[in-house]
Amino acid sequence: MIKSMTKVNARPLNDILTEMASKSAEDVALVTKAYEFAKEAHAPQKRYSGDPYFIHPAEVGFLLAQIGIDAPAITAGLLHDTIEDAGVKPQTIQEQFGKEVLSLVEGVTKLGALRYRGLERHTESLRKLFAATAKDIRVLIIKLMDRLHNARTLEHVPRVEKRTRIAHETLEIYAPIADRLGMSVAKQELEDAAFPWAYPKEYEKTRELLKERRNENDRRLEKTEHDLKRELADAGLRSFRAEARVKGVYSMYRKLERKDWDITKIYDIIALRVVFPTVADCYTALGIIHGHWRPVPGKIKDYIAFPKPNGYQSIHTTVYTGDGGALEIQLRTESQHREALYGIASHLTYKEILQGEGRRGSLEWIRQFFPAFGGSKPEVSAKEEKTGVPDWVRELGTAHHAHEESEEYLDTLKTDFFSHRVFAFTPKGDVIDLPVAATPIDFAYAVHSDLGNKMSGARVNGKLVSLETSLRNGDMVEIITKPAGHPSRKWHDIAKTNMAKKHIRAALAQEKKKHG
Ligand code: MN
Repeated sequence: MIKSMTKVNARPLNDILTEMASKSAEDVALVTKAYEFAKEAHAPQKRYSGDPYFIHPAEVGFLLAQIGIDAPAITAGLLHDTIEDAGVKPQTIQEQFGKEVLSLVEGVTKLGALRYRGLERHTESLRKLFAATAKDIRVLIIKLMDRLHNARTLEHVPRVEKRTRIAHETLEIYAPIADRLGMSVAKQELEDAAFPWAYPKEYEKTRELLKERRNENDRRLEKTEHDLKRELADAGLRSFRAEARVKGVYSMYRKLERKDWDITKIYDIIALRVVFPTVADCYTALGIIHGHWRPVPGKIKDYIAFPKPNGYQSIHTTVYTGDGGALEIQLRTESQHREALYGIASHLTYKEILQGEGRRGSLEWIRQFFPAFGGSKPEVSAKEEKTGVPDWVRELGTAHHAHEESEEYLDTLKTDFFSHRVFAFTPKGDVIDLPVAATPIDFAYAVHSDLGNKMSGARVNGKLVSLETSLRNGDMVEIITKPAGHPSRKWHDIAKTNMAKKHIRAALAQEKKKHG
């Protein structure tokens, strides 16, 4: 068999070390040790492709290093399947790599148990649950890279149903999470890896259409880029770089669906992206561009002044290129560019902390994105203080005035990312999204007002509990009803949500009217 002759080798350790943001001896040693450990642990295993299993964790480690995440997360990426698939004891991971790495590995293992069941109503819930289950944002990012490599190697999965399930799960759950974390590269790659397996016919159709337009688009891009560089240089703007941004095939397909498959209505198949040192340069360039080409009305979007909810910042404009077509041009700064590509992951590194640039803006968007973070420092327990924040953050100490803000920011990110919500299950597996400290009363009314009004008791994870019990993430809640059940004044005091309180007041008023 030719297959076994061309043995694929795992990504070399050196590739990972080269990509790593930190080159400290300590970090290099940690990652090196994890690489050797995982290689050894997975030695007897093979992937579906017949290749050594270690190819997978090595690639996940590489992807993590590439997006600029910290060494403990890269370490955990290398080790992420050792407990589940190689039978390594959690104790061993802790002894060899410490508590922080173990908690990341265990977080990833736990997420692996969640399955997409293909029901529309579950999709958003599962996304939320997913996010909530990962108490540390790095767990989600490791899981995204794990899935990215699995999606890229779907061709080797022998069972069609499994392949299709993974592909749909990737499109419905993972890509939207990457998007919400502002990780546009990961989002696009997840989508484009899964698309051919989830929707083969649509994929072929989209690819054919794109192929037809290829030459025309390339020519337009080349000509515009050439002219633009000259115009900018004439106006004294010399420090910038331009690159082509090609739209992902899946994102193209989604847009075609919205435009009745009329590809001439899509102007951003390819866009010209120009990256400048400062925001002022971007606006200057916008003026120059509109002075030279006529802009398409309604296509100017200033995401620098008004960032997207996921933090994305750039100026977009579409101009008529004079050859009967149009081209989108995107303007942004270097830090906006990095954040647009890697999103939240770009903050979990040395790089930006040391540079300090763009820091305030980043904090602003994370607050916008998760309003519960507000402006105040979240409470960090002694345990989190010990395990949640790597020493290197604290060591930055007096190094930079942005330090205090950075540490607070990292604390916020790395500990209980979604701490302001509780996600509990119904016995059927639906996820109910509630505020912290919500009770079974809130749960019942969130499911249905009738369920609340007829409630007589509740079981949490199979045990009878008092109605004052605070629910916790992942609790399975069963509401016990009786036909003669009705809410009481006391319930009103116990309930945490306005929705429950409103229904209880209404029911109490009804009752009063009935009994005179
Ligand atoms: Mn894996």
